Parts: sequence; C-alpha cells; structure tokens
Amino acid sequence: MRFVTTTAPRRRDPPVDRDDALRRLREGGGRLTAAKSAMVALFFTEPGSMTADEVGARLPSVDESTVYRVLAQLEQAGIVEHVHPGHGAAAYRLAGADTVSVVCSVCERVVDVDRAELDELVDRIRRRYGVELDLHHFALVGRCTPFCP
Ligand SMILES: [Zn+2]
Ligand SMILES: [Zn+2]
Repeated sequence: MRFVTTTAPRRRDPPVDRDDALRRLREGGGRLTAAKSAMVALFFTEPGSMTADEVGARLPSVDESTVYRVLAQLEQAGIVEHVHPGHGAAAYRLAGADTVSVVCSVCERVVDVDRAELDELVDRIRRRYGVELDLHHFALVGRCTPFCP
C-alpha cells in the first residue's frame, strides 16, 4: 500500500472561464447546442448554486428534460458539481468552489464556509483514520447561532 500523502487528491481542474468550458465541451465531442451554451453562460454569471428547477426557470427556452441532460453532461465534463443541501433537491454550481455548504436544520439557511477552515480537521482525520472526508457532496448540517426560532 502506498503511504498516504498530505495533499488532498486533485479533482479534475475546473475550467478557468466560460470559453475554456465551451472548449472542453467541444473537445469532449457532441454538438455544442444553444442549451449547452446558455447553461454554461448562466453558471458563469450566477454566483452560488441552483437546483435544476431554478436553472429551468432562468432559461425558459430550455425544456426540463434538456436541463437535466445538460447538467449531467456539464458535471461529467468537470464544469459544474452538485451538492445536497438538505432534504431538498440537489443544487448545482460551478466546479472548483473552495467552500463547504453548511445548512441550518431549522431555517434551511445555507452558509458557505471557506474550505481552508476545515483543512486541519480533514488532514487529521486522513492521518488518523486513513479516510478522506468528502465535504463537497453533502452539506454539513448545523444550526444558526444565536439560535433561530
Ligand atoms: Zn437557522
Ligand atoms: Zn449527489
């Protein structure tokens, strides 16, 4: 067995900008449709994350099944990633964000915490237990303080 390194495993590098993302889609084969370009543009202009429904609401010309299909393609190309913020629908955002979502279990407010705040914990768990925490896929659950009602 290889000794564990101290750096986190590199995920695929996110695209540097919108043109880079479009280039990546073209190189990955498949046609660069209007829906794909519109969705890429949306993710580069909209900060934060959106559910598939929210993407659809912002792009009325793109039908629902296309939204889901293109989201899967963008995710596969390493352009977007999704997170499960709680009991609700998955939310999509540009890949490569250095934040971890924390959702309040009472009011469902989402707070984006700088990933670096958790580096020490992640390192310690890796060294001690030989497991790498994936803090991107599921939001951490917490509660607002002072406590929300
Ligand atoms: Zn709250
Ligand atoms: Zn998931």
